[in-house]
Amino acid sequence: MIMENMTFSCPSCSIEYEVFLKEIPFLMLIQCPSCHSALSCFEGEITVASDNLLEDIRGAESYDEIKKAIKKHTTVKKSLVNLSNRRAITDDDILNLKIDLGLSKTFKDVFKVINGNSKK
Ligand SMILES: [Zn+2]
Repeated sequence: MIMENMTFSCPSCSIEYEVFLKEIPFLMLIQCPSCHSALSCFEGEITVASDNLLEDIRGAESYDEIKKAIKKHTTVKKSLVNLSNRRAITDDDILNLKIDLGLSKTFKDVFKVINGNSKK
């Protein structure tokens, strides 16, 4: 199985991470293991997210609504991930995200769900 590796630095504490995933998702919610900031990685942009982001994303029905929620609840400070190898986003991706978020109550839970998926 080919794993994508993704390197990013936390916009809050600047610590660097490398994560391995089956594929790089268009949206990933993670908690920085170092400073515990809630981070959103959307389209390769890592931003610091507020607590309300999860709630708004869960209510979103489309890619555009997710995008709007991200813009509303994240701060501008960000770092970038190289997404050159990533395939195009499909409706299935949006559906899978909604299923994942349906199982998650906090950023910590989302992190668990994503970890679980990456081991498939
Ligand atoms: Zn951090």
